[in-house]
Amino acid sequence: MKYDVTIVGAGPAGSTTAKFLSEKGFKTLLIDKEKFPRDKPCGGGLPLRVLQRFPYVVNDKIIESYSSSGTIFSPSLQHKIEIYKNTPIIAMTLRKKFDFELVKFATDAGTVFQDGTLVSAVKISNDTAQVTLDHENVIDSELIVGADGVNSTIARTQGLRSRGTEKGICILQEFEVDEKIMDDYFKKSRHVYVHSRFKTAQGYGWMFPKKQHLNIGFGIIQVDKTQKQKLNLLKCYQEYIALLKEEDLIPRDLKEVPVKGGALLTHPLEKTYGDRLLLVGDAAGFINPLSGEGIYYAMVSGQIAAEVIAEALEKKQTSQEFLSKYQTRWQKDFGKDIDLISKVVKRGSMEYAETVFKIACKDPVLTDLMMGVITGQLSVQQYKWKIVRRFFYSSLKNRLHLLK
Ligand SMILES: Cc1cc2nc3c(=O)[nH]c(=O)nc-3n(C[C@H](O)[C@H](O)[C@H](O)COP(=O)(O)OP(=O)(O)OC[C@H]3O[C@@H](n4cnc5c(N)ncnc54)[C@H](O)[C@@H]3O)c2cc1C
Repeated sequence: MKYDVTIVGAGPAGSTTAKFLSEKGFKTLLIDKEKFPRDKPCGGGLPLRVLQRFPYVVNDKIIESYSSSGTIFSPSLQHKIEIYKNTPIIAMTLRKKFDFELVKFATDAGTVFQDGTLVSAVKISNDTAQVTLDHENVIDSELIVGADGVNSTIARTQGLRSRGTEKGICILQEFEVDEKIMDDYFKKSRHVYVHSRFKTAQGYGWMFPKKQHLNIGFGIIQVDKTQKQKLNLLKCYQEYIALLKEEDLIPRDLKEVPVKGGALLTHPLEKTYGDRLLLVGDAAGFINPLSGEGIYYAMVSGQIAAEVIAEALEKKQTSQEFLSKYQTRWQKDFGKDIDLISKVVKRGSMEYAETVFKIACKDPVLTDLMMGVITGQLSVQQYKWKIVRRFFYSSLKNRLHLLK
């Protein structure tokens, strides 16, 4: 049997592509090498814009909890911006449940799902796109979508990614904690903590409280080549945990669970399409260069890919010239945001970050704007001038000693 589309990887990017394609009536095959439900090392923080753009994810099986307050510490720990709201600032999920539920949306729409199956090779020719499963069976389709994550075999074997592509690295633990203890430490508002540029890393330490889980991690999101050699990720993480205990931010007797690691591309690939081929999500490098957040981009790129593929199949145009529409559309949708954040992150020194905190922590309007951008609630592209204007206004007030 020939499928219209074969999607490799059933994370948020692959499942979203599959759901939208199946809803349009295309014969869609979704493959993952892992048996589902499977876990994926991740903070599990869901920016509210995921819920706004994909309202079908708003259900109790997917959303563990909402956080309506949070603190972000400056690199020196001397300044902090804090926010207390009556409405959520971010949602929390457990990836094992979230990803499985997204697969179910796709299969409910008609997608054929094959888990526990490795795509070991891909071959694209003039009249078909072929994947080899577990080094044995071959499946034909009109198009292939590479949704196979940060180490994408598809991107590498199809010449869309070179060997030396830069990667950020993160480690984390997700502890199961009694709900009552979670309430004591993180309140009903499930107070989120972020330690910006902890240990001078181009990244941060995070603490994401959920209903009965506490997700703690440390990540170097941007690669500073000199620093990568100096920083020992595990040691930084251990020091981070020690700090949290010292400050009494977490219980001292958390039950040990394995430390897990993960990686992220630091910027989108130059080209995310080829003949009969599109890349979505982490495989294409769609990550927020400040926060390392990628679920939103994974799902949006899946949605855009499904739209372009539908047009391609209807017009019988599967060449890369036609599929380049995909790149134009994601760039217009979220690519400019990623570009802008990347520029700010690359220019921002430690001293600059410290100054921003010093000023923002005295100005609730600026705090709100910054929190909105960091939690992925606000589009940087849309709010950039508002943030810049407010920052200069606050800096001036600060100089004139008008801020308390
Ligand atoms: C430590 C860490 C913390 C993070 N925290 C957050 C956060 O709090 N919020 C947020 O929004 N983002 C976060 N991210 C980013 C987020 O996890 C990713 O952006 C997101 O998972 C991307 O989804 P995806 O579908 O592209 O890839 P993935 O979720 O990685 O899915 C890829 C799938 O492809 C499968 N696969 C790979 N190769 C093959 C093959 N050859 N054959 C078959 N199947 C294959 C894998 O088994 C996997 O299931 C974090 C990332 C890391 C590393």
